[in-house]
Amino acid sequence: MKTDFNHCETIYWVFTQLCNDKCAHCYNSSGPQGTRMTDAECLSIISNLPDKIDKIILSGGEPLAEKKQLYLILDTLREKYGAEQKITLQTNGDLMTEKILDTLLEKGVKGISIASLDRFHKHAGAKLDSLKKLFDSRGMIDAMPYMTIGKKKNEIDPSWRTYSYFGANEEMWLGGNWARGRAMENDIWMKDPSHNFCAIQSGARNFLGGYTDVIQEVSIQLWALNPCCPGTKFPLGDMRKEKLADVLLRISKNKVFQVLNTGNPLKMGEHIGITEAQAIKDTEVLQNICSYCDLFFIKNLHPETLEPLTEQIEK
Ligand code: SF4
Ligand code: SF4
Repeated sequence: MKTDFNHCETIYWVFTQLCNDKCAHCYNSSGPQGTRMTDAECLSIISNLPDKIDKIILSGGEPLAEKKQLYLILDTLREKYGAEQKITLQTNGDLMTEKILDTLLEKGVKGISIASLDRFHKHAGAKLDSLKKLFDSRGMIDAMPYMTIGKKKNEIDPSWRTYSYFGANEEMWLGGNWARGRAMENDIWMKDPSHNFCAIQSGARNFLGGYTDVIQEVSIQLWALNPCCPGTKFPLGDMRKEKLADVLLRISKNKVFQVLNTGNPLKMGEHIGITEAQAIKDTEVLQNICSYCDLFFIKNLHPETLEPLTEQIEK
């Protein structure tokens, strides 16, 4: 496990839940009425980010629906990390224009990730061809031949500006993972208690480091720091108020999160008397590992300190 959290490999930041779309499967319930932050909140979050981050992914909601704030974030990140900082924008692509792309590239965006190629998005990737033409016209490289989700097939030259595209499908983004938000409300999440999303990229595995099979990544949902993209029931910390490195150092001493770092939530209660067999039973009832994780947090952890509620330990 890492001990210096002032360097993170990847930070995934949902800085807005405002979106032009309102997809039925949206895990963070983004939409035209989605939660937004003030510019001042975004700036305090940036001031609390680590000194070194290999890659920052800005997402939403739809970042381009919050364009003025996005530009402010990009300018501030550039001031803090310099022009070479790797920044990827994850977008549904609906609002992208030539002028916006040029501004994004000028402000230091190195990668565009189109995350709307599925049947749940209004435009279901209909704009992909024209977007690809637009990116090609600016000398950007199609990164798809170089990568699979969470794993690099070949190294992408760091000087390239790239684009990629994906969407939610049963195997991946709708799998055992996004039992959250509108996907839950609309009951369109796939029930599969055997699927351990926690052990793959965007799950909690390796959020504290120590492994090489997935990238070390944490997510920030608006201001809430999480070990994974779905987000734990209680966040690790409030990025408006605390340094990310301090929070991760504190959490790295917590046994529950040490086990989550291995990617096996079924073992996270063993030190307080909750067996893996019991965890498997609960997950089978709930049909989803993240729902089990939520229940475990509610029953066993203090929402703020994240320490065990010892008086409620299950036997
Ligand atoms: S899934 Fe993406 S495009 Fe759809 S509502 Fe959520 S943030 Fe917006
Ligand atoms: S099991 Fe918990 S820690 Fe792991 S991905 Fe799901 S919510 Fe995150």
